[in-house]
Amino acid sequence: MELQHRYTISYAKAYRAKQKVFEMRFGTYEDSYDNLPRMLATIAQRNPGTYYDVMHFPNPEGGPSILQRVFFCLGPWKYKGTIPTAIGVDGNNQVLPVAFAFVENENVDSWYWFLERVKTNVVSSRSNVCLISDRHSGILDAIEKLKHGNGASPPLWPDVHSRWCMRHLAANFYDHFKNKDLQDLFKIDREASNSHFKCKFKCKDSQTILTGIQDKPKEKWALLYDTNGRRYGIMTTNHAECYNMVMRSSRGLPLVGVVEFILYGCAKYFGERYMSISADLSNASVPFGRTITKYMETKTDKAQIHNARLLGTRENRFEVSCRDRSRRGVHRERTVQETVIGNDGTAHCSCMKPTLLHLPCSHILAACRELSVDPTNFVSTFYTKGAIAATWNQELFGYGMVRAYTHLTSENGTFQTQH
Ligand SMILES: [Zn+2]
Repeated sequence: MELQHRYTISYAKAYRAKQKVFEMRFGTYEDSYDNLPRMLATIAQRNPGTYYDVMHFPNPEGGPSILQRVFFCLGPWKYKGTIPTAIGVDGNNQVLPVAFAFVENENVDSWYWFLERVKTNVVSSRSNVCLISDRHSGILDAIEKLKHGNGASPPLWPDVHSRWCMRHLAANFYDHFKNKDLQDLFKIDREASNSHFKCKFKCKDSQTILTGIQDKPKEKWALLYDTNGRRYGIMTTNHAECYNMVMRSSRGLPLVGVVEFILYGCAKYFGERYMSISADLSNASVPFGRTITKYMETKTDKAQIHNARLLGTRENRFEVSCRDRSRRGVHRERTVQETVIGNDGTAHCSCMKPTLLHLPCSHILAACRELSVDPTNFVSTFYTKGAIAATWNQELFGYGMVRAYTHLTSENGTFQTQH
């Protein structure tokens, strides 16, 4: 702009110009309150399984009613004002956008309203869904109400599991204590939250010092105590942060513009993901997505230097000793894990990883090697190519025909189609 016209344009002016372009394209922000429900109706009509809900309240000054909240989830992709969005993670560690809403602000009410719709329209009868969130009291209280009921109303989502994001927890803890010694400890913990398993050990070691959370239920924040591995090893809401980064580009758009951004963005995103997994589907030698294929290769390499000794008589019980590669000679330490390959198709290990991650650890791989058992049996079906392909294998239809947005006329406060 500057080079072409030799003219410096102020930020405010640029902002107004941008708004003007948006208005010409989508109508004004106020216009969205009329156009948005119509747009969502068209999207829902064209995309079976799409659900949307709009909440209005009457305008005290007369005229069109005021839009308070909007919820929508696109197509049959079953699975977080502000835009609460719910995102999922597929078997290849990819972000899956699930549901969106526009709400007046983040509070218990708006979170309850949002999650209630996520449960009814997205999760449906799927059991044992785990929500990983920051510790915003609005979210946590809303989850409690859904889980345990709200006064007279029965619980809507009794089997929901709630876990905290480690990164948010780390940040809150630091803000609260601001203590030099704790700060150093905290650095370790912050680094640890980048890596799932380091985190497990640090949480265990520093348990007595983490005053702020030690009296809180351990399964909420420590991977080691994650009952039945509900988190699948996911310790943070970083997947959601990535998603929010993308959403940032829709800032300043009228609501219909945001919906268009999401719809077209999703179409492109789903198409790319499906293309990628389709290429792998024809390769019979690879049963999983790329993340898990890589994981299995790394762990199989690691298992090469483990020594698995069969001890069980009736059970396939092993002691697996692992060489410590970082030390030499007399200082070399060995860690020993107890690993059981059950006759019922299950596998257990004292390292806990199989339970927490739903994946075999290197100790199980070493035991499988001794038994000539296929270790892929112990990988959750969630990680298979078929499951990943099913996540992205959905058709999405545009809403092109809704065009001709209405505009709020100033004379009588009604919406009219622009000519
Ligand atoms: Zn193990």
